[in-house]
This record gives sequence, structure tokens and C-alpha cells, in this order.
Amino acid sequence: MAVLDLRKKLAILSDAAKYDASCASSGTTRRDSRGGRGVGSSGPGMGICHAYAPDGRCISLLKILLTNYCIYDCAYCVNRVSSNTPRARFTIDEVVGLTLNFYKRNYIEGLFLSSGIIQSGDYTMEAMVRVAHALRLDHDFRGYIHLKLIPEASPALIAEAALHADRVSINIELPRDESLARLAPEKDVAGIKRAMGEIRLGIESRSAPGRKARAPKFAPAGQSTQMIVGADQAADGEILARGEALYGRYKLRRVYYSAFSPIPEASARLPLQRPPVLREHRLYQADWLLRFYGFSRAEIVGERDNLDLAVDPKLAWALRHRGDFPVDVNLADRERLLRTPGLGVRSVDRILALRRLKRLRLEDVQRLCRGADKVKPFVIADGWSPLALADAERPLAVAEPRQLSLF
Ligand code: SF4
Repeated sequence: MAVLDLRKKLAILSDAAKYDASCASSGTTRRDSRGGRGVGSSGPGMGICHAYAPDGRCISLLKILLTNYCIYDCAYCVNRVSSNTPRARFTIDEVVGLTLNFYKRNYIEGLFLSSGIIQSGDYTMEAMVRVAHALRLDHDFRGYIHLKLIPEASPALIAEAALHADRVSINIELPRDESLARLAPEKDVAGIKRAMGEIRLGIESRSAPGRKARAPKFAPAGQSTQMIVGADQAADGEILARGEALYGRYKLRRVYYSAFSPIPEASARLPLQRPPVLREHRLYQADWLLRFYGFSRAEIVGERDNLDLAVDPKLAWALRHRGDFPVDVNLADRERLLRTPGLGVRSVDRILALRRLKRLRLEDVQRLCRGADKVKPFVIADGWSPLALADAERPLAVAEPRQLSLF
């Protein structure tokens, strides 16, 4: 490997990391440097200043790979061993130095570190753990750390990574096991699930009642995963069913859906075009309904079906269940309000709080929610009743017709 200066390495290894979507910092517990000790802080709710790359992915942290060299040959990955991409590798001291320097200059609030597989899972995981260890223990770094785990690494190394990181993640990669076997033959889906299970146990054992408050934190911001959408034939229903199973089995904080991006010199096993970005967006909306709005996957989309790109999944559900609307905002329970288009979790909580004090009018509801126009056809309030469920909503939401491409 040619000797590269640090700036060149940074250009290559931050670009190579842009395909990783798992970079949200929410939900961690507080580390801070009050009292004059330590470097940085990471507290609940404060989050990290998120920024987005032109392709829409979050790049707010110092988001880099330790190396983009990899001994594996996953067909969908630009870093696979057979790829012609320029390669680079950071030393451990370089990653630590960059993180601290960028942090102190206020450019970043934490580190997202992933890597191609060098030599073996253990070798790679150990190098990543050494970065996190040096930051936390040698430099008392209290900013956010997200480590992408190597599922083939030993449980001891994975556990050590989780002791230093706020969040850890292991990519499930594809919605179907057989697609993973076909497109990433060196990966072992059973090993991925086993590692996710170990993280879940580690998190639960540290947070069990009766544990000492001062016991070392273990991935306090939980674990997440990433699934590539559109690299195989899996329908949205199947993708969401897999997400639902992962949330249930491994108590994941997030499943990230990443639209497949065609890569240079791609394998003939891959599609030629990326799926519409709107598909990724609809999956995130549906995922939100599963986690926060009390919907089951089956209510949103059939296992073999795709989400409607023209209408958001909550509105689509409401239009299929017209008999359930309008909902009386002065009487309906929380569950019904949450299913009403235009009302989010926060606006429902505000409605429930305000209606203890007074009868709500439409203007009150519209002041409390973001989707003011959207909510109108679906609610009854003092002085307001919609004449009919708004079929007119749908044409408004339908995208402009577009000429299909032949290629
Ligand atoms: S193991 Fe990761 S970095 Fe290596 S080829 Fe597969 S997806 Fe890419």
C-alpha cells in the first residue's frame, strides 16, 4: 500500500464510510467533562449536530473507516477485495489524534468508526477497540463513540468494544438470508445474529434492577443495524417484517434502511439502478409507525407488497379504514389519536394535556400539531366536523408522472 499523507487518507476513508447509515446519536446516557475532567460530553437529548451528505446520509460525526481494504468480497460493497477503489489505512494514533483535534476545534461531537476486515475479524476488532480504549482511558474522551462491530470477532472483544462505545452496530446487510449467502458468501448470518444476541444480553445484564449505578456502561445508546434496500427482490413488507423481528429479538434501537447504490464495476448479480430514494423514506415512516404509533407490520403492508410511494403509510392506512374516522379529539383515547393522520406522538400528548383544561376546537388542534391541514378531514372538534373523508387528499399526494427509463 502506497504511503499516503493524512489528508489523503481522510479523503478516502471518510468517503468510503458514507454508505454506513447508522450514525444517530440519540438515546445515550450522559458523559460529561464538568468539574474540569475529561474531554467532551455526550448527553441525552443534546444529540450531535447532524449534517447530511448530498445523497442524504448522515455524516455528522467524524465518520471514517479504519481501512477500506477488506479480505471479503461482498458484491454490493465498493470496498470488497475485488474492487478497484483506491485503498488507505489509518493507524490507531491517527484516528485518535483526528478525533481529539476535530473535537477540540468543535468540528465534531464524536466518532463513528467502521472498518473493512483486515486479516481476520479478531485482528480488525482489536484495532478498533484499541482506538476506543485510547480515547476513553488515555485521553478521558467523553464525546460520542459509535463502533461498527465485526460479528466474526470473539465475544470478549465485542464486549470490550461495547464497554467503550455509546452505540454499537452490526449490519444485518440484506432482508433475506439467501440474498446474503448469494451476495456476501463470506458472511455468516448465524454469527451476525449470535453477536446481536450477545450485545442484547450485555445491555440487559448491565441495566438489570439491583445493578450498581457505578457499574461500567455497556453500549448505553444500544445497538442498531443497517439493511440494504433494493439489492435483492425483497418487498417492503418483507423488509419491515425483518425489521420488526430484529426489534423484537435483539431490542435494537434502530434499523436503518439504506437504498442500494450502484457501485463501479458492479457484479451482474446486482440491479443496474438504485431504488427511488422515496422508497427508503417510506420505509422509515413505516418503521416509525411500528415503533411509536402502535401499528403492526401487517396493518401497514402485506409481507409480499410494497409501500405506496405516492402516499405516506399512515395516510394510506387511514384511507383503507375510513370507517374509523373522523376521530373526536375531545373524547378519543391515545391509541386512536396516534392513528390519525397529521397527529404525531408529541401533538397527541399535547392534545391529551390540553383537553383536561378545556374543550378543543380545530384551531387548538392545528396549533398543537405540525400537519395542520392534514389533520382536518380526520377529526371532530368543538365547532368542527368534516363533511366527508378527504379523497381530495390523495391526488395532492400523488407524484408527477415520469417517463420510465429503459435502462
Ligand atoms: S465485509 Fe464489509 S467492508 Fe468488507 S466487503 Fe463486506 S461489506 Fe464491504
